[in-house]
Amino acid sequence: MPAQLIDGVALSRRLRSDIGTRASALATAGHRPGLAVILVGDDPASAVYVRNKVRACAEHGLHSVLEKFDADLSQQHLLERIAALNADPTIHGILVQMPLPRHLDPQRVIAAIDPHKDVDGFSTQSAGELVSGLPGLRPCTPWGCMKLIESTGMALRGQHAVVIGRSNTVGKPMALMLLQAHATVTICHSATPDIARHARDADVLVAAVGRAGTVGGNMIKPGAVVIDVGINRTTDGRLCGDVDFAAASEVAGWITPVPGGVGPMTITMLLSNTVDAAAAAAVSAQLPGR
Ligand code: NAP
Repeated sequence: MPAQLIDGVALSRRLRSDIGTRASALATAGHRPGLAVILVGDDPASAVYVRNKVRACAEHGLHSVLEKFDADLSQQHLLERIAALNADPTIHGILVQMPLPRHLDPQRVIAAIDPHKDVDGFSTQSAGELVSGLPGLRPCTPWGCMKLIESTGMALRGQHAVVIGRSNTVGKPMALMLLQAHATVTICHSATPDIARHARDADVLVAAVGRAGTVGGNMIKPGAVVIDVGINRTTDGRLCGDVDFAAASEVAGWITPVPGGVGPMTITMLLSNTVDAAAAAAVSAQLPGR
C-alpha cells in the first residue's frame, strides 16, 4: 500500500489558525507580536524566503518589519541595528536571514540577538536549553518536523529515529528533539559508512542533507515515517527533496512531499515562536519591578 502523505500545508493551516487567535488575544491586551526580519544582500532565494515570512506575519495578525541592506553593510552597522531591535518593545522576534555575505560573521551576529528574541532558535543559549531539556525557543525547521511526525499519531517513545545530516540548524537539533521525545537516535553524516544500513532500521527517517537521491526506496523500512527536509533543484528546474519520493512512497507508511511538507511548517513555527516570545514578554512586563 502506498504511503500516506504528511501534508505540511494542511497542518500549517490548522496550526496557523491557532497562532492567529493567540496573536489577536495578545494584540487586544496591548502586546501585538512583532517580528523583525533583516536581509543583507540580494540573494534571490533569501528574498523569496523573507517575503514569505513577512507575508505570513501579515496574514496572522503579527506586526513585522523588514530591514533590507546592501551586501556591503558593515558588521558594526548590522550589530547596531540588532541592538536597536533588541531595545524595541514592539519587536519580540529578530531573524537575520542566512546566509550572510562572507565578510559578516554569522556567529557574532546571532550572538548579538537578545536570546528572548531569538525566534530562529540558533543562539548558543537556545541550543543549550534544547540540550538541557529546558523550555526555550526551538529551531523552526526541526520543530516543524516534530509536529509533522506528531500528526501521524506515531508515539516516538522507544522508536528508532535516524537523522541524516548534522548541521547546527537542522540535523543536530532534530536529533535532540527526537531524543527528548524518547526515541533512540542515530545521526548519520558525510563520514558515516553504509548509511543505507542505518536508514533501513529507522522507524522514523529524517533526511536533511541537501542532495537529491540521498535516500532511495531500498533504504526505507516498511511502514516508516519519512521526513524529507532537503530542498534541491532538478536539472529541469523543479524542486525536489533528498528522498526519492516515488520509490520511498511504495515502502514507507508516511512521507512528506517536497514542496508542501517541511517548508510551510518552518514558517509556521517561526510565527509560533514569535507569538511565544511576545507572550513571555507580556508576562515579564507585568512582573513587579519592571
Ligand atoms: P548543511 O548545513 O549543508 O548540512 C548538510 C548535512 O548533510 C551535513 O551535516 C553533512 O555532513 C551532511 N551530508 C552531506 N553530504 C552527505 C552525504 N553524502 N551523506 C550523508 N550526509 C551528508 O545543510 P542544512 O542547512 O542542514 O540543510 C539541509 C537541507 O535541508 C538543504 O537542502 C536545505 O536547503 C534544506 N532545508 C530546508 C528547510 C525547509 O524549511 N524546508 C530549512 C532548512 C534547510 P557533514 O556535517 O559531515 O558535512
